[in-house]
Amino acid sequence: MEHIKCLIIGSGPAGYTAAIYAARANLSPVVYEGITPGGQLTTTTEVENFPGYPEGVSGPQLMEDLRKQALRFNTDIRRGVIVKADLSSRPFHLTTDSGDELEAEALIISTGATAKYLGLESEQKFRGMGVSACATCDGFFYRRKDVAVVGGGDTACEEATYLASICRKVYMIVRKDYLRASKAMQEKVFNTPNIEVLFGYNTKEILGDEEGVTGALLQSVDGSERTIDIMGFFLAIGHHPNTEVFAGQLELNPEGYIVTEGASGRTSVEGVFAAGDVRDPHYRQAIVAAGSGCVAALDCERFLLSH
Ligand code: NDP
Repeated sequence: MEHIKCLIIGSGPAGYTAAIYAARANLSPVVYEGITPGGQLTTTTEVENFPGYPEGVSGPQLMEDLRKQALRFNTDIRRGVIVKADLSSRPFHLTTDSGDELEAEALIISTGATAKYLGLESEQKFRGMGVSACATCDGFFYRRKDVAVVGGGDTACEEATYLASICRKVYMIVRKDYLRASKAMQEKVFNTPNIEVLFGYNTKEILGDEEGVTGALLQSVDGSERTIDIMGFFLAIGHHPNTEVFAGQLELNPEGYIVTEGASGRTSVEGVFAAGDVRDPHYRQAIVAAGSGCVAALDCERFLLSH
């Protein structure tokens, strides 16, 4: 069985930042990249809000830069997914998808969260070409254009309000006849003149051409259909934290996010740390994930020094 001092699971901004800090602290980190090497940012196009890139940077390029920086300090980055974890005693025992058995003195979990999609074929076709699950990341590209947001929760309201400040018109597509969001968020939406809430509608198809999204075909609960002309289609129907492997072994909140102690990266199991979206249902920004990767690595370093 291979013995690893500091094992990092996941290769988004949190995982790579944790690796940079852990490697520079001589913890010889090993990173398992997970199902989506580079994480959620590899599915976006331009990133303009990550500090240090005055001209913006593509999501995949940003992740490549972070990866290179981690490699520069000799991080051992491996393809592969951790499919089993036993956190009941130290060293922790983990199994990869190729059947390799590992033991780790300390673990940093940065497996991220996955945005939920509707499951339409056209949605996949136009991903990155008008279909996005992050208004903060991509809204800017739809300045003075018409867009739609799907969902009726706090995220959808927040994203619709944000988009309304940039775009000409924002449709909210809500499948029920009410918003699930908090009253304060609802009020913001109803008080924003360029947001139109379409209650009782589901999206049947996203329409577009080789340039990207041009509209959406909606179906009302009464069966009638209507088309809206839009250039951006934003999903805000929730995220799903990637914590299945750790369920029952770590404290998770009711939505499945890892609970950490205050602002630290410490979880309910000593020696296990969490960073990035897997512990953050609120901010979900690359720079926040990177910051929490740093925090988790510093906590991990202190833990290893004292054990
Ligand atoms: P939620 O689960 O609260 O809301 C998801 C929304 O998407 C619901 O309106 C739901 O509809 C809709 N939905 C789900 N699946 C589909 C589908 N297949 N088709 C159409 N619509 C669908 O997720 P959020 O991301 O909004 O929020 C997650 C948590 O984070 C919540 O606890 C929220 O309060 C919190 N949050 C807080 C914020 C704040 O305080 N500022 C900001 C953002 C999030 P339905 O109602 O019909 O189920």
